[in-house]
Amino acid sequence: VVELEYKIGLEIHTQLTEAGTKLFCGCDSNYRKYKPNTNVCPVCLGLPGALPVPRKRPIILALAVAETFNCKIPESMVFTRKHYFYPDLLKNYQITQYEKGGGMPVCLGGMLKYYDPDLDLWKKVKLRRMNIEEDPGKTEYSEGNILASEFAYVDYNRSGVPLLEVVTEPEIPTPRDARKAVEYLLLTMEYIGAMNPRLEGSFRVDANISVEGGERIEVKNIGSTLDLERALRYEIFRQRKIIEGKGIVERETRHWDPVRGITKSLRSKESEEEYLYFPDPDIPMISTEPLLKEIREKSIITPEKIMEKISRIGINRKMAWSLVTIKACAETFLEAVSIGADPIISSRILAIDYKGHLRKSGMSLYKRENWPDPVALKKISDLIRNKAYTYDEIKYNIIPKLVSDPKMIHITLPEKASPEKLITEVMNEERKAIRDFYQGKKEALDYLVGKVLKKAYGKAMDPKKVRNLLEEFLYKNSNIY
Ligand SMILES: [Zn+2]
Repeated sequence: VVELEYKIGLEIHTQLTEAGTKLFCGCDSNYRKYKPNTNVCPVCLGLPGALPVPRKRPIILALAVAETFNCKIPESMVFTRKHYFYPDLLKNYQITQYEKGGGMPVCLGGMLKYYDPDLDLWKKVKLRRMNIEEDPGKTEYSEGNILASEFAYVDYNRSGVPLLEVVTEPEIPTPRDARKAVEYLLLTMEYIGAMNPRLEGSFRVDANISVEGGERIEVKNIGSTLDLERALRYEIFRQRKIIEGKGIVERETRHWDPVRGITKSLRSKESEEEYLYFPDPDIPMISTEPLLKEIREKSIITPEKIMEKISRIGINRKMAWSLVTIKACAETFLEAVSIGADPIISSRILAIDYKGHLRKSGMSLYKRENWPDPVALKKISDLIRNKAYTYDEIKYNIIPKLVSDPKMIHITLPEKASPEKLITEVMNEERKAIRDFYQGKKEALDYLVGKVLKKAYGKAMDPKKVRNLLEEFLYKNSNIY
């Protein structure tokens, strides 16, 4: 069976959560911490006579993202009004950028290069454009959805928060690539300091999918990268079934339901003319040249550059990527190496064991203060490098302490326990486990290793060494037990 081909294109709406202000007023871009309708002013409430004043920082951040992906940035930027009526849009128009409506977007073209860790490959998808626009307010229904609710609440705290919309060409090869590309875009924006993708609602994706023989379908309301992959798989399957059954896939907009894992028809697609786009007469044209100059003076840090830097230190790419995906972890690593920590040992501690402990303890991986002080990391790596302690001794005895107190600089070294003595003690106490071992129950050995480690509590001991000694002991003494 030859499967029908498909095409995927994405519109990624990212909030510039770190911009500091809304797009056209001084209200906070981080609206989540406020009580409803308290992060507002005459401008973002659309009151008569209030005039929008473009803020520099959101525009700088948007241009920095455009620069990173080698987009073509026009000499000037023009904002456009997009008209529609909805309770969360107070002015009855949204200020956006639209090149066909006499406007000028942040940029055109460009290339979203993203890393696929499974294949260890950099891949590319062409970008169509990026534009800045205002986020509308937020509608909350008393019973959770529009049909069941008698009334709705509107909160304008989000109204006017800057969004950067990134549009790709419809050439993404698979749902998994769509996910990887978006994850990479979000990571890049985090490195640039434009956004925090882990904040609730900080990005939304609309996906276009067309399967050979059918019209293009747009799926809205995708709020996570995992859901993006799921929604695309679902749509490709659904559209293929219709076409293979000689049905017709008509152009429409569908809504992703993450709970049920399906898409539902929302409306047939409206045409662009219905929005009556025209350039906003209240906002002057913005020249991009001086802003770009400012951006180029400081070099932009990207995950790709950090990945290259870490690889050059001699770390393999899989490990390097594991460090890079968490900015706070990559920063800690580079600082520790810069003061002389062993790169191989430090990368293993941070990307595997420390990260694992942080996860288990439920602490955020994304806060720099939860990662160890580079000085402590250097001390630990020296102990292992100089063979004062084995990696496992450090792993079991120091790392848990460091996770609970990441600011710790003075590493108090546990006294080394003598495994031989403890093994003899355990052998005298655990007759049943020993019999189990001789009867071929391999898990009895794990149990005995655990008992020895427990006895060594607080002292450094290498579990691998204990296991080897135990095995040796059991084979030597099989005639006694
Ligand atoms: Zn405001």
